[in-house]
Amino acid sequence: MNKVYLDYNATARMRPEVIDLVTKVMHEVGNASSVHDFGRHARKYVEDAREQVANLCNVTPDQVTFTSGATESINTILSGYRDKRILISAIEHPAVIAAAGNNAEKIPVTSDGIVDMDAYKRMLDNETPPALVCVMLVNSETGVIQPIAEMAKLAHEKGSLFFTDAVQAAGRMDISLDTLSVDFMALSAHKFAGPQGVGAIIRGSGLDFPKFMLGGGQEKNYRAGTHNTAGIAGMGIAAEWALNHIADYKKIQNLRDTMEQKLRQISNQIKIYGEQAPRVGNTTNVGFPGIPAQTQMMALDLDGVCVSSGSACSSGSFKASHVLLAMGASEEDAKSALRISLGWATTQSDINRFLESWEKIVKRATQ
Ligand code: PLP
Repeated sequence: MNKVYLDYNATARMRPEVIDLVTKVMHEVGNASSVHDFGRHARKYVEDAREQVANLCNVTPDQVTFTSGATESINTILSGYRDKRILISAIEHPAVIAAAGNNAEKIPVTSDGIVDMDAYKRMLDNETPPALVCVMLVNSETGVIQPIAEMAKLAHEKGSLFFTDAVQAAGRMDISLDTLSVDFMALSAHKFAGPQGVGAIIRGSGLDFPKFMLGGGQEKNYRAGTHNTAGIAGMGIAAEWALNHIADYKKIQNLRDTMEQKLRQISNQIKIYGEQAPRVGNTTNVGFPGIPAQTQMMALDLDGVCVSSGSACSSGSFKASHVLLAMGASEEDAKSALRISLGWATTQSDINRFLESWEKIVKRATQ
């Protein structure tokens, strides 16, 4: 039986045009920094991709720096601020929490999973304004969209810079740098149907960021290391596809919304985290109190249905999610939550398979 993949927030299924281009580039040779014909040919893939990623973020190509993924992008930006005052939200990805360092101050969130704006304003209103505020645009576990433009404007009024991790937003909503009013943004290609191991930093016009990867002079000295030409080309075409198909997200949202209605019909004891907040259309974080996520995931897996508990990076460890705890969930409730994340290849039949399997679990547990 075909397996059902509902873990797009961990990594999205690659688009066929991405696979085709990456394969084509891998059949070729050339270092994008070499000046001979092969090198120039490789460089063309990199520069085309830079333009495609720039279009996705509504910036100019010189504002795009390629990296090995969002983790590197995040470490790069935050490396310049660790000895200064940094504000992050309590629900950031572990990459941000670790790279910001122990002194970073955490902005709390409401029970809906949105940054507590009153607390944020109080934290900004300090004798020493933060050098940097770093808050994700879309939470990876709940899909909740944070009020980034409003937060960035408030930060700017205090003279602070604003960095957003837009990894789970790209391809799912508008991520124009200007609309968001942010100074820096981190992206990872594999979350929007591109290849794994390639990402970008988008920076505001005229802004600089710290040099983290030292070595050769690639990426105009911003990021040393040979270009991952095939990966970058794949990121470019994925960005173009994402930009051209953003309206299709409505279909994914319809699938998600009907799935949530059916979950409620199966059991009225479920809790959908962040349900009342603005959310991207592909993510559901659902708790069924009393059945550990581990048990649910294993039973689903036996039926060929793959979902996640909490964030992918912590799946396997089955710790209570720091995001759900920050939203006020109890340890036990947080440990019973599943993340179901849909994407471009998800079908109604996938959702039906998930619902059938989940209904069996609930029936067994409540008999
Ligand atoms: N930020 C968010 C919100 C994520 O969901 C992830 C990946 O799960 C990352 C950062 C890190 O991305 P990568 O592992 O591709 O470097």
